[in-house]
Amino acid sequence: MTPSLGAHLARELAALEDRQRYRHRRVVAGSHGVRIEVDGRRCLNFCSNDYLGLAADPGVAEAMAAAARQTGSGSGASQLISGHNRAHAELEEQLADYLGRPRALLFATGFAANVGIIDALVGRGDTIVADALNHASLIDGARLSGATKRVYAHADPGAADEQLGAAGSGHRLLVTDSVFSMDGDLAPLPALMTAAARHDAWTMVDDAHGFGVLGGGRGACAPPYPVPESRVPSPDVYVATLGKSVGAAGAFVAGDEALIEYLIQRARTLVFSTAPPPAVAAAASAGLRRLREDDWRRAHLFELIARFRRGCEQLGIVVDGGIRDAAGASPATRNSPLETPLTPIQPLVLGSDADALAASRALLERGYLVSAIRPPTVPEGTARLRVTLTAAHDAQQVDGLLAALADCVRPPEPVA
Ligand code: PMP
Repeated sequence: MTPSLGAHLARELAALEDRQRYRHRRVVAGSHGVRIEVDGRRCLNFCSNDYLGLAADPGVAEAMAAAARQTGSGSGASQLISGHNRAHAELEEQLADYLGRPRALLFATGFAANVGIIDALVGRGDTIVADALNHASLIDGARLSGATKRVYAHADPGAADEQLGAAGSGHRLLVTDSVFSMDGDLAPLPALMTAAARHDAWTMVDDAHGFGVLGGGRGACAPPYPVPESRVPSPDVYVATLGKSVGAAGAFVAGDEALIEYLIQRARTLVFSTAPPPAVAAAASAGLRRLREDDWRRAHLFELIARFRRGCEQLGIVVDGGIRDAAGASPATRNSPLETPLTPIQPLVLGSDADALAASRALLERGYLVSAIRPPTVPEGTARLRVTLTAAHDAQQVDGLLAALADCVRPPEPVA
């Protein structure tokens, strides 16, 4: 007899619990700054994507409040009906202007943007060539589109080239994250763009974790590019989010006129979804202004990243992307300048779920919130602490985290 839905789900949940894969949400009281209260406990937040410290910026919050007083709380409809407010239009113009692209188009979230864009651009008979560690939203967009998917080894342009060469006769779309969200490493974008050009493939880059941080703020596809002699990558489709370094919510795609107009017609997650509140767009405009003008936020953030990495090195704690082969070694390619994690995402790969969970709990007892990231978010055997640094942290806080890590994380066994 088929079990009731409740009985079936209870069994599934118990199995997750057994495997230490059950996930709990924490309740944050107050605003999302560095000093937060989580489940009633005050602690320092080292697992936020608010890389420039703008999510709790009083100026950005006030811009949102002022806009809400003028435009209300909701957009009331999808963009194509009556939900496209002047605040949205202005933000799109500001984003296009900042990136030097003809147009930009807002989506309610980065997840919706990626799913909607990929599904609109390719379909049955076409091929998507994708990095093995692409974000879930890129994977789901590929699934939904019905295109054939060919996955290449992480951050390996040679493997991408092979997959592009093996694609069928339809359109080819190469899709990659710029900064990998759980590893903090960079895609070799210039080499990937070259491979795509050789095979007449279109290119799409998800710069959720690069926009605002890399390229002086303009992201992973803007100079100064980490490898000086590389040509600056210019993907056909550039996506970034507004809920991370911009400190608001939502996402945008930037590109040519035809791309944007086509997506307005065909991206189902835009056409059939309520536009974000105009006040959110106003907050993003204010965040974008800070992001453009406050170079000190990036300078401070990069100082903290260097301090954290130096500190880990002194403690014998290995910071890396956890991209290991079966023998547990990181590939030599990670030593190239492109792979050096110059990003705020600093993963400490501990291996087992139990180790990652225990370290995360021990850190919280010492007042540091660093979440344990477990499969399926990361590959089996690579559970990790995902430390993220932001411009809102200070040097003392980073030193405090390092001292806590010294207590809570065992350095890896030396390899014989
Ligand atoms: N792309 C990447 C690489 C991400 O890490 C995320 C979310 N963390 C998204 C897209 C989705 O963005 P959003 O949170 O705005 O839905």
